[in-house]
Amino acid sequence: MMQALPADTHPVMGGSLAPPTGVKALNFSPGPTSLAAEVEAEIKALFDAERMCSMYLSHRSPEFLDILASAVQRCRTAMDIPDRYEILFMHGGGHGQFAAVPLNLCPNGDEKATYLVNGTWSKRALSEASKYCRPVVVSSEHPDGTFTHNPSFDHLDPESRYVYLCSNETVNGIEMHRLPKLDIKAPLVVDASSDFSTKPIDWEGCNVGVLYACASKNIGHPGVTLCVIRKDLLGVPSKHCPGVLCYSTNARESNLWNTIPTFNVEVVNIYLQWMIAQGGVREMERRSMAKSAMVYDLIDRSNQFYATPIADPSIRSRMNVPFEVAGGDEEATRAFLIQGWERGIVGLRTLTPFGVGKYLRASLYNGVSEQQVKVLVSFMADFMQRRRHAPSATPND
Ligand code: PMP
Repeated sequence: MMQALPADTHPVMGGSLAPPTGVKALNFSPGPTSLAAEVEAEIKALFDAERMCSMYLSHRSPEFLDILASAVQRCRTAMDIPDRYEILFMHGGGHGQFAAVPLNLCPNGDEKATYLVNGTWSKRALSEASKYCRPVVVSSEHPDGTFTHNPSFDHLDPESRYVYLCSNETVNGIEMHRLPKLDIKAPLVVDASSDFSTKPIDWEGCNVGVLYACASKNIGHPGVTLCVIRKDLLGVPSKHCPGVLCYSTNARESNLWNTIPTFNVEVVNIYLQWMIAQGGVREMERRSMAKSAMVYDLIDRSNQFYATPIADPSIRSRMNVPFEVAGGDEEATRAFLIQGWERGIVGLRTLTPFGVGKYLRASLYNGVSEQQVKVLVSFMADFMQRRRHAPSATPND
C-alpha cells in the first residue's frame, strides 16, 4: 500500500532533485524529467537564434505554422503513423485525456467501454471515465491494491465502444512491450504517456483508435499532449465535451482552435528531430532494452538485496524500474538515497498522486543515456558490496 512521505529532514527524502552544490544531477525522475543533452543544447540556442523563439511567436504566424507542420510531420515519420490518423497537440495532459476519450467516443454518456486496469494510471483513467460513459472493468488489482501483471485480454465485451489500456504503468512498472491484438472489433485507446516513441506501434494491425502521450517523459516537457486519432473516430462528441478536449474541433482547425502551447510544440519538434537522427524508434527501443537490462540484471543477481515487484520479464517496464533496497529496510533505503544523492543520482524517490509508494523507481526515458545508467548501476553494485561487508554501517557512511 502507498504510504505518506515520512517526515525526514534530508532533502532527498522529501523528493528533492537538487544534488549537493557542484555535483551534476543524474535525473532518474518519473517525469517531468531531463531532456537528452543535445536537445537541451538546441533549446538553449533558440533564444540566441536570429529568428524569434517560438515562446514569443504568435501561434498563427507563418513562422510558427512551419514549426507546427514540422512537428506533425516528424511525429508521423518517427512513429510511422499512417495517413488515416490525425495528429493533434492538445492541452490538459494525461488527465485531460482521461476525460476526453469518453467525451469524444461516447456521445450519449451511457455507452459501454472496456477499461483494462493494470496499475494506478489506468485506474485513475477509469475513475474519470465513469463520469462520462459506462465502463466495463477488467482489472488485475490485488486485494491489497498492488498490481503485478496485466488482466486477461480474452473474452472482452464485444459491445464496448473501445478498449482502454495503459501501455506503460509508470508507477507500477508494468509495460506492454507490444500492443495486444484483440479478438473484438472495438478499437484500442492507448495511454502511452510514459513509453511513446520508445518502441514501434502497429497502428493498423492492433486496431489503434486513439493513442495519447503527455510530452513530459520521452518527447518534451509538461504542457502539451500528443494525441493520435484515427480519422473515422472523429465524430460528434458529447454535448458536454469542452472545445479544448474535442478531437474533431481541434482536427478541423488544424491544432489552432485556441492558442497552442507554441514553445512546447517546438521542443517536441526538436526532440523528434534528435530521435530520428539517432536512428529513430528502433534505436530508442534498443537503448531502452539495454538500459533497463542493466538495472534488472543487477537486481536479479543481487540475491534479494535489491528486489523488484514484477517477476515476469515479459511485462517488466523498460521505462520505470521499481525496486526496494534490503527488503525495504528504512535505514538502508535512506543510506542508499543519500549516498546516491551525494553522487548526483536523484529522482529515485518522488511523490506521486498515489503517495510515495513502497518502492524506489529508476526511470530510464529517452533523455537518460546508457552512460548515466551505468553510473547508477555501478553505484547500486558498490552500495550492495559495502553493505554486505559492513551490515552495521552508519546511515551516511
Ligand atoms: N498516464 C501515465 C501513464 C502517466 O505516467 C501520467 C503521469 N504523468 C499520466 C497519465 C498523467 O499525466 P498528467 O500529469 O500529464 O495529467
